[in-house]
Amino acid sequence: MVTDALDDYYQKYKGLYKSKSQLIRVISENWFKDHMYCPFCTEDRIITFNNNHPVADFFCDQCNEQFQLKSKKLKFGNAITDGEYNKMMEAIYSNSVPNLILMSYSSSYDFIYDLLIIPKEFILPGIIQKRKPLSLKAKRSGWTGCNIILKNIPDAGKVFAIKGKNVIDKKEVREKVAKIAFYRKMKEIEGRGWISDVLNVISNIKKDVFELDDVYNYATFLKNLHPNNNNIEAKIRQQLQILRDNGIIEFLGRGRYKKI
Ligand SMILES: [Zn+2]
Repeated sequence: MVTDALDDYYQKYKGLYKSKSQLIRVISENWFKDHMYCPFCTEDRIITFNNNHPVADFFCDQCNEQFQLKSKKLKFGNAITDGEYNKMMEAIYSNSVPNLILMSYSSSYDFIYDLLIIPKEFILPGIIQKRKPLSLKAKRSGWTGCNIILKNIPDAGKVFAIKGKNVIDKKEVREKVAKIAFYRKMKEIEGRGWISDVLNVISNIKKDVFELDDVYNYATFLKNLHPNNNNIEAKIRQQLQILRDNGIIEFLGRGRYKKI
């Protein structure tokens, strides 16, 4: 994987497309097809969907994971605009969202800053923000889009293949994905939502050894996300046990925990 190879595609296609958004789509997709491997299995090639697939752009023919690529000039920011809100929510509840890959590139299209993989299981209702419907004057009046809020995704759900121009070793990327295999197998959205939210709280606690009280400090935040739960603290302890059983944290005793 070479980040500055993006320029090769830019040089090749720049004369062929008048529209900048079309051009970057072609450049980023070609780079991805030629350089990206499957982070979920041992396959070293990703395949482009031939027909215009409604959501996904790529797939792996070994493990069948599907990928949607979104690219953005410079930094991602906190909100990634996505498609129609109701369709997104339907896709989440029917477990048909593809894995999301975010690519940020330099303003002169010559290299990639970041390539971020968000496994589909982390794309949950809690990270989707409904946008304002388009105004009456707009062509698609009433159409309501959505944003993906990156800060609501825990660090465990943000797997960088390239970070700040540095290519992360493929083995390291796959190890990070393997660590969350237990989570990816959870079918229930509610259960995944809880784990993801507690993981996000832990990501926000900026120390490697933390206490139960550090997590309890987020009880109100978690209650807002799960208003039907009336025993937040018990639920937190249960999630911490699941994370311990799956090797994400370690119990040190006396309400102290360590991130692994
Ligand atoms: Zn695969």
